[in-house]
Amino acid sequence: MIAEKNLIFLGAPGAGKGTAASALTEREPLVHISTGDILRAEIKNGTELGKSAAVLMEKGKLVPDDIVAEMVKSRLRRADCDNGFILDGFPRTINQAGLLEDALQEIGRKIDAVIYFEVDDEILLQRLTSRISCRKCGRIYNKLFLPPKKENTCDDCGTALFQRPDDSLETAKERLKVFYENTQPLIDYYMSKNILTSITEVERNKMVAALFRKLG
Ligand code: ADP
Ligand code: ZN
Repeated sequence: MIAEKNLIFLGAPGAGKGTAASALTEREPLVHISTGDILRAEIKNGTELGKSAAVLMEKGKLVPDDIVAEMVKSRLRRADCDNGFILDGFPRTINQAGLLEDALQEIGRKIDAVIYFEVDDEILLQRLTSRISCRKCGRIYNKLFLPPKKENTCDDCGTALFQRPDDSLETAKERLKVFYENTQPLIDYYMSKNILTSITEVERNKMVAALFRKLG
């Protein structure tokens, strides 16, 4: 039982942050906070925020720091985060890390560990462009490495699977570039705070096992 742990999952797009978060929340009462999922929900609901975010996300660009930080802040205020939470895909810039610290201080929470998922670019691109997911329950599959039992259908809820528009090869490459430019500096940032731990296992089950080992 690792309850009451507040975690950040750091890694390039396709590194397995979402998969790891799902595996962890299956076993622990942690809240999974994915800024990508929150933004996609805004798009689906046709909000103003969603409309402006969609233009950037389709191109693989980042949504402005203040907007995502505000989203995360209001999510972190909710009582269910008392049991611990996983920040997946946030922070993504040094500036966002600063905004997160301010927000955490305001609400009296702190980060216990940052897990960095380290995966080669070649594998990342292959994974992103073959990734499919369930619109209804959010489960993630991969046409090559983690296929559903029945083609293009969610094992859990039977819904048809879809490919994210930003998982095209061109946009996936842009997202990797954005990762190296904006997010990579966070590795040193959290390393210097002595809270970063890396996971280098790539195969899903090994990666998940390594995660549980690290979290004790
Ligand atoms: P992945 O990690 O696979 O790239 P996400 O679902 O985390 O996918 O993010 C999808 C897109 O949502 C990003 O490319 C970006 O446009 C936007 N986004 C998500 N989180 C953030 C963030 N913390 N800051 C800025 N933009 C974000
Ligand atoms: Zn489903």
